[in-house]
Amino acid sequence: MGLPIYMDNHATTRTDPRVVERMLPYFSEHYGNAASRDHSYGRRAEAAVEAARGRVAASIGAQAPEIVFTSGATEANNLALFGVAEAYGEEGEHFITQATEHPSVLAIFRRLEERGRRVTILPVDGAGLVDPDAIRRALTERTVLVSVMAVNHEIGSRQPIEEIGALCKEAGVLLHCDATQALSTQGVDVGAWGVDLVSCSGHKIYGPKGVGALYVRRKGPRVALLPRILGGGHERGRRSGTLNVPGIVGLAEACALLDPAAEGARLDGLTERLWELLRAGLPGVRRNGSRDRRHPGNLHITLDGTESAAILTRLGDVAISSGAACATASRKPSHVLQAVGLSAEEAKSSLRIGLGRFNTADEVDIAARKIIDAAQQS
Ligand SMILES: *Cc1c(COP(=O)(O)O)cnc(C)c1O
Repeated sequence: MGLPIYMDNHATTRTDPRVVERMLPYFSEHYGNAASRDHSYGRRAEAAVEAARGRVAASIGAQAPEIVFTSGATEANNLALFGVAEAYGEEGEHFITQATEHPSVLAIFRRLEERGRRVTILPVDGAGLVDPDAIRRALTERTVLVSVMAVNHEIGSRQPIEEIGALCKEAGVLLHCDATQALSTQGVDVGAWGVDLVSCSGHKIYGPKGVGALYVRRKGPRVALLPRILGGGHERGRRSGTLNVPGIVGLAEACALLDPAAEGARLDGLTERLWELLRAGLPGVRRNGSRDRRHPGNLHITLDGTESAAILTRLGDVAISSGAACATASRKPSHVLQAVGLSAEEAKSSLRIGLGRFNTADEVDIAARKIIDAAQQS
């Protein structure tokens, strides 16, 4: 039997073979430490890292010195939020976010609250969207930062980041955006978005796992940030630790290969095809998230009266999920589905399908038939 059809691209993506090809020499040939300036191995590694920094920056409309390499988006979120919280005073400062953020943002907000900051977690509507006016109303004299993700990792809703960016600028408040799910199908433009900090991850954009980046604005305003990982002062003191040179080279190649408009359009076609097939085969199936503001590869459905766990067991050779990988591990009902108003029962009858670069129309047809069969056995 071949490998299962992979349709869980919000959890992680296959590393593009072109990315792997670029990375390979940095394991066994150009393996110097990028901080070793005394010899050609080190200088070669450093040159590769700096070229990569330029490519990552260019892909989001930033300047190279504004990029800090991290181990992924979780670390980038931690560096952005704790880094700003520590740099901008101690007690009483106010931070705003919204209910469907990734756990790596929400957990930090809970910790900030325990440490004496004021936090506001705004609700979303049934489509998973936060209201920019609600953000405006929540701002106070002491608000330091707003954090809103670009695209949700479960239901694919695309937040109105440009509108939020404009209102934050007007109020003189920093805006952090977890853009992990947006980069491959929507693209990121830090200027047009009006964002000051942006988190990205390699493995969600057909790059390697264990590498990511944080964009930190240098001008208008210059964002101050205290490091979370101390040591030898790498990354201009913002993130110590020997740089993951192959990973960084891979992240940059993944960024260079992105073509969000074309990729988004192709995925939108595949996703609509899958939705039409499922809708025809499964009367009563409902689609979650926003109709017009969504990740083009996302299809999140609820099938009343079914158990998604049982469907997944029967679906051995199609890899889709009952929720986010992080939520699946904890077996709690997803906070995202709760936030958009699904009951615990509905959440247990829901499936997340994430189409990506390597999926084909044939796979969509096969997967649709298998999902329908598995659901009808319920
Ligand atoms: C996957 C994901 C993360 C975590 O990224 P890692 O690089 O795995 O740490 C953060 N936010 C969102 C929206 C994600 O989808």
